Amino acid sequence: MSPVKKSTVTTWNDVMQLNYGVPEINLVSGKGLVVTDSEKKKYLDFLGGIATNILGHAHPAIVKAVSTQVAKLGHVSNFYSHPSGLALAKKLQEMTGDNTARVFFCNSGAEANEAALKLSRKTGKTRIVATTGAFHGRTMGALSLTGQESKRAPFRPLLKDIKHVPFGDIPAMYKAVSKKTAMVIVEPILGEAGVVTPPDGYLKQLRSLCDQHGVLLVFDCVQTGMGRTGNWFGYEHENVRPDVITLAKGIGGGLPLGAMITLGSKTPQFAPGEHGTTFGGNPIAAAAGLAAISVIEKNRLMAQAKSFEKRLKIKISAIRGVREVRGRGLLIGIALDGEYAKELAAQLAKNGFLVNAPNLETIRIAPALIVTKAQIDKFIVAFAKAMKEVTNG
Ligand SMILES: *Cc1c(COP(=O)(O)O)cnc(C)c1O
Repeated sequence: MSPVKKSTVTTWNDVMQLNYGVPEINLVSGKGLVVTDSEKKKYLDFLGGIATNILGHAHPAIVKAVSTQVAKLGHVSNFYSHPSGLALAKKLQEMTGDNTARVFFCNSGAEANEAALKLSRKTGKTRIVATTGAFHGRTMGALSLTGQESKRAPFRPLLKDIKHVPFGDIPAMYKAVSKKTAMVIVEPILGEAGVVTPPDGYLKQLRSLCDQHGVLLVFDCVQTGMGRTGNWFGYEHENVRPDVITLAKGIGGGLPLGAMITLGSKTPQFAPGEHGTTFGGNPIAAAAGLAAISVIEKNRLMAQAKSFEKRLKIKISAIRGVREVRGRGLLIGIALDGEYAKELAAQLAKNGFLVNAPNLETIRIAPALIVTKAQIDKFIVAFAKAMKEVTNG
């Protein structure tokens, strides 16, 4: 990592909680895929704010949409509707291909999943099935859905009636789900757990299991939505539709925005007064989301993401020490042949590339969809170099 300015550390320790540790890099500006730190060192950002800066940094369309909106109408509360919010909801409805789709806007992934969790109570049932390793957020309800023991342990008791079964394991789902189950929640690809893709047909089998028992099927597309996987939503490659989609991360084009979308006319809906949030779907974030969607469509960035996926998988699989390259579109997990992912991520940062290590043997990349072929190739070369440096190969 770049040398840490003493003042940065002191400042953080003096004023911040330590829940994120002490970040070693202090970023001050960005343009496209490039970010610059307080030492004026430049990096190619292959993490994209964790799959969030879908159009990179300071994209002209986002800057224009946000500036225009904030100059016109910044916040109104949900006592009033506003054109950007309605237009974005309409657009999301079109993207689902279902005109019964109904949108609830919030500000984050945890909130989107909290909304789904509350909505599931409207079935009159309380049991929920989720998967081990899944990440659904950190608030108490979302944390109860999250299947990672280290994040749950300090905060028990969590919500009751939530069972976790291994991800990708259909027989385990069949055992756990019954008519008494209110909802099943699954990430189409486990993001935080290291970009883990389930076996082909998993999502479809979940659909038929949930249909069989009248259970709500929720796909948490917070990380896999917004074109990230080469489709608008991370489940679409299986030609299957959930009852509820949750979104956040990329949906706001880098601004805080989340959504819970119900599909189908039989899916429960919130009645007036049953749920809400002050900032959810505010005009500025909605305007940014609309601008991002329009650029992704106009520049065919989803098709491009699929072609970059192929390129990355072929080239990176060929690098010595790489065990497997997983994922879809521009959400890619690189599995290593040993537990040196943290060191490798640090070496890449030192060499000017931002990535992250969701666990000890996986590197995750989730660059903005505006990444160029030249930048992808630069990354591949840099990855091979960093591998050599870290493994002394
Ligand atoms: C990041 C993430 C969340 C939580 O989103 P926050 O905005 O951090 O609350 C939920 N689900 C998935 C799949 C995520 O990747």
